[in-house]
Amino acid sequence: MRVTFIGLGNMGGGMAARQAGAQRAVAAFDLSEAAMDRAASAGCARAGSAIAAVSDAEVVITMLPAGEHVRRVYADAVLPHAPKSALLIDCSTIDVESARLVGEQARAAGFRFADAPVSGGTAAADTGALTFMVGCDEADFADIEVALQPMARAIVRAGDVGSGQAAKICNNMLLGVSMLGVAEAFNLAEALGLDAQRFFDIASKASGQCWSMTSYCPVPGPVPAAPSNRGFEGGFAVAMMLKDLKLAQDAAAKSGVSTPMGGQAEALYALFARLGYSGKDFSAIIRLLAGRLDTLA
Ligand code: NAD
Repeated sequence: MRVTFIGLGNMGGGMAARQAGAQRAVAAFDLSEAAMDRAASAGCARAGSAIAAVSDAEVVITMLPAGEHVRRVYADAVLPHAPKSALLIDCSTIDVESARLVGEQARAAGFRFADAPVSGGTAAADTGALTFMVGCDEADFADIEVALQPMARAIVRAGDVGSGQAAKICNNMLLGVSMLGVAEAFNLAEALGLDAQRFFDIASKASGQCWSMTSYCPVPGPVPAAPSNRGFEGGFAVAMMLKDLKLAQDAAAKSGVSTPMGGQAEALYALFARLGYSGKDFSAIIRLLAGRLDTLA
């Protein structure tokens, strides 16, 4: 299978390497030379441009920062220069509108297209353990699964084009809100003299139970693998959470849906980022809420 990979950054670099590791011929392109070097050392072929990268593709995968980049790469390179038989898959996290627009343009030009954003960070990208949320025509899903398989732990069809992005931003809005709830509860528990481990043991078996607590506890101790145990380094960065919360609020405003908790989450993460903590794991927000930024490096 000939796979074109455009966008070889923190996520795309590892994902392209997984494709090459599955013995696929990968034509790779990124504006950054350093990213190209990394992809080449993982077995990908360097393409001189996005146009050259797509000209012979069976599958085109993009992993770019935002909607504007995806729209531009599709308009300039993919749609005018890829073979019509190529399967087009955008794995970036972008706004639902851009995903639907690019999908319509692709369909009008005779291509099959899917939006397939991922859950899982760079470690999952490197090890092929990402979850893909796919928006596509039902008839295309089997081929999309085959194309994504070397990078995936799970591949779920969310619905038609645009639905992958919708699932991603709704999930991450819920994640941001639930982390704030867990953080508040642990801060209050501490002030009331409750031991954090005891509170965890009780709440994780009671109605407060949720992923933000039981898999990603913002207090060190109860969940040893959580970033709270290593100074909130690694994990899912505040900047990424803020990006997804903004996408959710934009989508809510455009659809006329009230999401006041998502709005609060966006405001708090924006404040946290402005204070200089965009690189920290998002669970570090517990220290902002506690008024204990002095405890963050
Ligand atoms: P990144 O900034 O590390 O990588 C993006 C890459 O795209 C860069 O190397 C950049 O040079 C390249 N690029 C930009 N414009 C280009 C163009 N016109 N042509 C070719 N290359 C171009 O970002 P990332 O962390 O890899 O994230 C990529 C996407 O994945 C984003 O949409 C992000 O929201 C999403 N995502 C990231 C994570 C994460 O943990 N990093 C997790 C889930 C989803």
